[in-house]
Amino acid sequence: MKCKNCGNEFTPVRFNQKFCFDSFCVKVWIELEKHKQWKTKKKILKNELQTLPELLKLAQITFNKYIRKRDKGKPCISCEKPLGAKFDAGHYFSMGGHKSVTFDEDNVHGQCVTCNQHKHGNLIEYQLGIQKRIGADRLIELHARAYEVKKWTREELTEIIKTYKKKTNEL
Ligand SMILES: [Zn+2]
Ligand SMILES: [Zn+2]
Repeated sequence: MKCKNCGNEFTPVRFNQKFCFDSFCVKVWIELEKHKQWKTKKKILKNELQTLPELLKLAQITFNKYIRKRDKGKPCISCEKPLGAKFDAGHYFSMGGHKSVTFDEDNVHGQCVTCNQHKHGNLIEYQLGIQKRIGADRLIELHARAYEVKKWTREELTEIIKTYKKKTNEL
């Protein structure tokens, strides 16, 4: 085995040993290990320091990406025009007022930009479209869920991000 620092041949005594026992090489080796550990620690810290709004934002991005992939090729939930390459994940019950169904698959559907952004969700037509898409029974259940009071926790949001990354990949 050749030392990673000085290049001299040596006999490793441990699996994966890449430095010889020269005192300077040992020093280099220790510094490198310290640096590696610090990098891992920094990564963990960064994760822990992510604020709740940051997590919420990331969860929304991840969830909406899943919805857009799920609804690709379907018509707009409101106006029934074919969805182009660029379309939104439109919420039937708004995100601001109905936190409990922000990440509810029945509440969010592929919607054209015109309906979502220029017609404020085009809700009257959305109601007709969603009833057609998920059926009256599921719509009634969605209505019930939409009025539950909900405050998302870090753990739940982290779980949502994980789940929907996985679900998007599996589609
Ligand atoms: Zn060496
Ligand atoms: Zn539309």
